[in-house]
Amino acid sequence: MILGLTLPGERRERGKGATAAQAGATARAARDERAAAAGRPSGPPAPGAPAASASAPASAAVPARLAAAAPAAVQAKADELGQIPVLMYHRIMVKPQLSLDRSTKELYDELTRLAKGGYVPITAAQFVKGWIDVPAGKHPVVLTFDDSTPGHFGLDPQGNPRPDTAVGVIEQVARENPGFRPAATFYLNKDLFGMDGVQAGAGLKWLAQHGYEIANHTMSHPDLSHLSKDEVYKEIGGMEDEIVKATGTHTTTFAYPFGVAPHKAAWAEKKDGSYAFQGIFLAGWRPSMSPFDAKFDRWAIDRVRSEGKIKEDDCKQYCSTAWLDYLDKHPDERYTSDGDPNTVTFPNMLEDRLGKPYRAWARVY
Ligand SMILES: [Zn+2]
Repeated sequence: MILGLTLPGERRERGKGATAAQAGATARAARDERAAAAGRPSGPPAPGAPAASASAPASAAVPARLAAAAPAAVQAKADELGQIPVLMYHRIMVKPQLSLDRSTKELYDELTRLAKGGYVPITAAQFVKGWIDVPAGKHPVVLTFDDSTPGHFGLDPQGNPRPDTAVGVIEQVARENPGFRPAATFYLNKDLFGMDGVQAGAGLKWLAQHGYEIANHTMSHPDLSHLSKDEVYKEIGGMEDEIVKATGTHTTTFAYPFGVAPHKAAWAEKKDGSYAFQGIFLAGWRPSMSPFDAKFDRWAIDRVRSEGKIKEDDCKQYCSTAWLDYLDKHPDERYTSDGDPNTVTFPNMLEDRLGKPYRAWARVY
């Protein structure tokens, strides 16, 4: 299933003209906060939702002045309001055939570049929960693979991931680069990596047990904007049922097929008794804002297509090589970790950008 891409000109603007979208986001944030008030397991604050965590200060005690950063975080030049690249991959194959395909060598080279450049993978679920647990001075990156095609994953007869798959390449790069954690998110359709039922059960369990996130991408990859509410429910709920059957666990994140939302975005976010996501990803063209940024919208998270600086689709500017070059040249715009997932550290001049729910966790310098 090949995706169309949303081109820059078609995208919403974050600044002026976004009032209706922002109003929607505000309403959703309010709802999230109500949900969060009902109690949340211990851990970091989730985007847009103050946590009732035992290890962190109560959200009611919002400090007037932000606390000072730890010396190690200052030394690491931590900026946890910086941008995070969420890379979007489609088919991975030895010899690419279509424009969105990437070769196993291209994937290997890109992941090696990330590893050498101080990036540490986290899953999309960890990202939307604000659980960004990477060492001080390192940069989180989210690797996402759409459409569960056979080149993403398969187990050999010994039960190990096949080396010529995306998972095989990720594991290899992790072995070669200590500190590069093998983690990625797989957005699944009903053709589960081309596996039969038995293989899929074992395969999904292997992924879940090895730090990979299993996530929802609908049963048949439709353009959701053409579907009724019930059809949307069926497409997403059906896939959720398949995943729960195989893994015993519900998914946390969703990616729109073709990056396109249904008539009402709320239909995709949640259906009682079936699915309830904490974040939805687009097919985009720029790195994501930090989940701690006041303007972060967890229901429309930007991704970057993995591709070199080719002419097609403006990849000279908007695909992964171009963006990774950009972030290398503009380190002050990139998310750099303070090494503590329970605090949000950044230079104090950025205070206005901090999402209000995070003030109690903020550390400035
Ligand atoms: Zn897709």
